[in-house]
Amino acid sequence: MVSFTTEQVHAIRRSRERVARLHAELTRNNLVAWTAGNVSERVPGTTHFVIKPSGVDYDDLTPDNMVLCDLDGNVVEGSMGSDRSPSSDTAAAAYVYRAMPHVGGVVHTHSTYATAWAARQEPIPCVITAMADEFGGEIPVGPFAIIGDDSIGRGIVETLDGHRSRAVLMANHGVFTIGKDARDAVKAAVMCEDVARTVHIARQGGELVPIDPKDIDSLFDRYQNVYGQKPQGGMA
Ligand SMILES: [Zn+2]
Repeated sequence: MVSFTTEQVHAIRRSRERVARLHAELTRNNLVAWTAGNVSERVPGTTHFVIKPSGVDYDDLTPDNMVLCDLDGNVVEGSMGSDRSPSSDTAAAAYVYRAMPHVGGVVHTHSTYATAWAARQEPIPCVITAMADEFGGEIPVGPFAIIGDDSIGRGIVETLDGHRSRAVLMANHGVFTIGKDARDAVKAAVMCEDVARTVHIARQGGELVPIDPKDIDSLFDRYQNVYGQKPQGGMA
């Protein structure tokens, strides 16, 4: 039986509320179909995270039915927990939280355009300034991995460790994004789909023109500083 301090109990409550609310951004931005996709967040000041329950309709997500897990992906039972089973991507999220201590949020979607790039196992090249701003370069492709062990989590970490991008296209599957908190990871998922769509459409009209790496560097640095965020390169 895990016991939490009063402060931790409040932090868990706030994470439950944030994570439940942020799921509405996935539907609002057309990133998910049916019950696919999920948001999770590391609860500040604890060794736990909160994630979406498995197979529950987006309209029925509430702070109370979010599932609390430890960093091995085990569900916390009892009054602080939930009677629901956690998302089938819980093991992947747990792996990321264990391996990347600076990550506070993980999001997974099968958003259409980004997943189309994943289906081709093709990285999204950095050909628009918004991408340089947000991802600091191309959005990379991770390995093909089947759900059921920690191979998805390992693939995410191996691809994003040392990379500026907060998004990875897992081969033939979909998108995982990381962020300093759940909101930041949701933003990365929204921006990833946006640039995946724009670059896809751009290529229909002709050859893509890459941005000079020096310009990508200065765009990325400027954007990260202007917006007062910790440089994502520092996450490596
Ligand atoms: Zn998936």
